[in-house]
Amino acid sequence: MTGSNSLIEPALLEQWDKHYIWHPFTQMQEYVQEQTPIIERGEGCYLIDVHGNRYLDGVSSLWVNVHGHCREEINRAIREQVERVAHSTLLGLANVPSILLAKKLVEITPPGLNKVFYSDAGATAVEIALKMAYQYWQQKDGGRYRNKTKFISLGEAYHGDTIGSVSVGGIALFHGIFHPLLFETLQAPSPYCYRCPLGLEQENCGMACINRLEDLMARHHEEVAAMIIEPLVQGAAGMITAPPGYLRRVRELCSRYNILLIADEVAVGFGRTGRMFACEHEGVVPDLMCLAKGLTGGYLPLAATLTTSEVYDAFLGRVHEHKTFYHGHTFTGNPVACAAALASIDIFQRERVIDGLQPKIEFLRQGLERFRQLPAVGDIRQRGLMVGIELVRDRKTREPFPPELDVGHRVILEARRHGLIIRPLYNVIVLMPVLAMTVDQLEQVLDITYRSIEITTAQLQ
Ligand SMILES: *Cc1c(COP(=O)(O)O)cnc(C)c1O
Repeated sequence: MTGSNSLIEPALLEQWDKHYIWHPFTQMQEYVQEQTPIIERGEGCYLIDVHGNRYLDGVSSLWVNVHGHCREEINRAIREQVERVAHSTLLGLANVPSILLAKKLVEITPPGLNKVFYSDAGATAVEIALKMAYQYWQQKDGGRYRNKTKFISLGEAYHGDTIGSVSVGGIALFHGIFHPLLFETLQAPSPYCYRCPLGLEQENCGMACINRLEDLMARHHEEVAAMIIEPLVQGAAGMITAPPGYLRRVRELCSRYNILLIADEVAVGFGRTGRMFACEHEGVVPDLMCLAKGLTGGYLPLAATLTTSEVYDAFLGRVHEHKTFYHGHTFTGNPVACAAALASIDIFQRERVIDGLQPKIEFLRQGLERFRQLPAVGDIRQRGLMVGIELVRDRKTREPFPPELDVGHRVILEARRHGLIIRPLYNVIVLMPVLAMTVDQLEQVLDITYRSIEITTAQLQ
């Protein structure tokens, strides 16, 4: 048995895919002319298409998969929960897995985060954090802080694709067109050291971007509700890694200026950076934390926004006082998704997954060194198992490849021919291996990526 478990011919599926589906973040005019694998199965760190071709999952199925595909423990948890009940609402009712998971999340996240609000996607987890932070200040101390209505975000930020999340985003390519629909935010410079927005060099900048942030806070703190940040790594911007100490400084400044800190751990949470949560690296406790992607081990859509008793308590009162948080999604706290998340966290704890990551991270670090020989490699950024390799036309001037060359896309098509699925962000090649990958598999990921960059860029420089 190599083929599909359905009786539909692969050629027909390809035709129907192009006929019926509008793919996300995809120029469909080009997509319909390309051959794209149709995934039919997953096995550990491999994806298998309808023709039986096997690919290493080098982006963890868009940054979600943790323990590999088709892990028996997670599959079983899902099956067992479906046999009991597939869905029951959290509006006015409770269900078993959502309770157990909330308790577990409070135990494993930084201390002080002790209330869990569920939703279904990273973007909704962010929307919820923004609305909670806003309403908190409206209600705290009888409305003394009602002017605190604005948000500080970072340049190059990405927090999801709903309008509120886009408002705190900073990627011009994705967000520019929607500008008239967005609420205004105060934007601080991204700590993008390779292309410093302040035009400085990391060796002697004294972290000037933090000073800019402080200026912004000093001027506006009376009108700022919260600052939102992707801790340690701005993922969608091209794996921009913040310098050590940056996150802690942000936390200190937020505390000093009475601004809530929202940590969007949607991408960096669940082991990606080498700790369970990125905030742990700098001993930071945010006021709100957003989780999604890896929460269910990458099996089902589920998200959570965690916050402190301080925030939660500001929403307490009699019904007629209208302090309730009027927000919810139909599938909030879905029991099957919560059961998958519990099984995933159980694997983390039983197999001490985090401890096992350190040698893999070190292997990646060493393996990436030789990429510096490639003339098109301008910058290599790594934090844990998150890697961005920024390709440039001219290493000395850091001149980017022009967009019409579509270099990133060409590299990943080449990698696909050699059995590796990865996805670029513009000219940045992203490696986001499944946490469960072995060192041998990581070596294959590196080898194929190296060769694909070499072959593709040799023709272009
Ligand atoms: C992916 C991502 C989101 C959005 O998550 P969705 O589930 O796609 O809505 C939000 N924030 C960060 C940091 C992300 O990487």
